[in-house]
Amino acid sequence: MAAARPRKYGTALVVSGPSGVGKSTVCAEVLRRRPDLHFSVSCTTRAPRPGETDGVQYHFLSPADFERRVAAREFLEHAEVHGNRYGTLRREVETYVCRGHDVLLDIDVQGARQIRAGAGGSELDRCVEYVFLGPPSFAEMERRLRARGTDSDEAIRRRLRNARRELPAWREYEHLVINDVLQTAVDDVLAILRAAACETGRRTTSPWPGIRRAAT
Ligand code: 5GP
Repeated sequence: MAAARPRKYGTALVVSGPSGVGKSTVCAEVLRRRPDLHFSVSCTTRAPRPGETDGVQYHFLSPADFERRVAAREFLEHAEVHGNRYGTLRREVETYVCRGHDVLLDIDVQGARQIRAGAGGSELDRCVEYVFLGPPSFAEMERRLRARGTDSDEAIRRRLRNARRELPAWREYEHLVINDVLQTAVDDVLAILRAAACETGRRTTSPWPGIRRAAT
């Protein structure tokens, strides 16, 4: 990461989970309860859904503009999901964690794998926590997806096929949160963030001036 080393890094909280699990709802509620948390606004080539605003939920880009940013290495990770491209801008994450702020990233399992594989370098590595958000059951996930009413039948079928492939990835994550009761799931995510802030690995220096090393 390019920015100066802080005394204490923030946490980049990666939240993944299949479509229909309620990820956007959980993330919105986490952000409401932690207004200081920065939401990493991703880029996508998909069209905005009703109610979505450019620069708020996503930066909506043309395929050519997305490709230009890939070439310019602006993305920390990028992937194709449900036939559209999605990418996390480096500046949406690095600038914040380097200043000690926490960042929330809603990204799919491919993106999480890229970050885990070291896409952000070792400094970002120390800041990332991975949470997999799962449904209470497959049937409930399908019900939520249909209730949303924003996708065509074909898109829903594709999302369900992808979900079957994605669910086994839960084992790659340190944390699994089941979104059965919304507030419980939100409390779990907030607890993970809180615990992460206490990790010694977040600190670059001793919190007590003059005391640098453990006595041996
Ligand atoms: P949706 O189109 O429903 O908002 O999101 C579809 C999927 O794309 C979700 O699983 C979401 O987590 C994922 N996604 C959103 N932004 C990014 C991103 O920047 N990178 C990756 N890899 N996936 C993303």
